[in-house]
Amino acid sequence: MNFLEERIKRDGIVKPGNVLKVDSFLNHQMDVHLMDQMGEEFKRRFADKPINKVLTIEASGIAIACSVARCLNVPMVFAKKSKSINIEGEMYVAEVESFTHKNTNQVIVSKKFLTPEDHVLIIDDFLANGCALQGLISIVEAAGATVEGLGIAIEKGFQIGGRVIRNLGYRLESLAIVDGMDAETGEIIFREQECVE
Ligand code: 5GP
Repeated sequence: MNFLEERIKRDGIVKPGNVLKVDSFLNHQMDVHLMDQMGEEFKRRFADKPINKVLTIEASGIAIACSVARCLNVPMVFAKKSKSINIEGEMYVAEVESFTHKNTNQVIVSKKFLTPEDHVLIIDDFLANGCALQGLISIVEAAGATVEGLGIAIEKGFQIGGRVIRNLGYRLESLAIVDGMDAETGEIIFREQECVE
């Protein structure tokens, strides 16, 4: 097991409805050293890519994306959830359905912060059905920028998002892939992956 799988096994809580709660180290209280370990690991996995910007979505992707951006020494941009229905002018906009809140948000990124010269690494905490990632991909593509890859902390491999994104041809790296979990027993099954120190 890698460092993140070990932490999930120790402190993650399986909730009914296919929700994995990791609010003691990732989604509410944050273990900043774990963030840095994830940043270093994404840097290693995407070392062959000419990344000059990291993009995530608020709120819980921000801390991981900050660590990745620090490790890569590039800026980080986060897509903002906007309640306004009249977003004018200089914004890229995508509709994102929230898996956890069961609602739809518009997310926006200022055109100032994404340009055709950008080579973007998209980062998020979880991958479930892939709506958040697809929204971010559409924003990068609307800007004429390049998606160099996508980095996820925890992919729920039994939901469709990972398959959809990989089938679209994107390089998707997930530090932990949960292939099954049981809310009654608390058991979490991880997919075998290349070993990470
Ligand atoms: P997707 O758009 O892939 O369906 O869902 C991804 C988003 O939903 C992530 O940004 C994350 O915030 C949230 N999410 C999805 N599944 C889980 C989960 O099991 N636990 C937690 N804590 N968040 C989740």
